[in-house]
Amino acid sequence: MDGVCSGADGADGASSVSLELLKQKMADFAKERNWEQYHFPRNLLLALVGEVGELAEIFQWRGEVPKGCPDWKERDKVHLGEELADVLLYLVRLSDICGVDLGAAALRKIELNAIKYPAPAADTENKN
Ligand SMILES: [Mg+2]
Repeated sequence: MDGVCSGADGADGASSVSLELLKQKMADFAKERNWEQYHFPRNLLLALVGEVGELAEIFQWRGEVPKGCPDWKERDKVHLGEELADVLLYLVRLSDICGVDLGAAALRKIELNAIKYPAPAADTENKN
């Protein structure tokens, strides 16, 4: 994709990318290549699962990895970013094709999770 960071506001061009921007870029990308004919929910779901597999492969056999992946080579972190992006992009495209507002669904899910898993009261917060 050209102009990967276009439309973003951050200094590095990528810190405020919206789901709407990604959705539009994925729709344009598919249309320009006449790939809309293949972008049905089942196909996109299978592609998403494949990308999750590629992401899992990066961590396979490494044992536990510290937060921030401090010991990883730069090329491994770049690869990790690419696979995380593949997962996100297919998820965004799948949501779009299914007519689901992914951002709204995610916010709703966080609210539901907060009800299901209430935060401990302030007076008991650090007593574990
Ligand atoms: Mg991939």
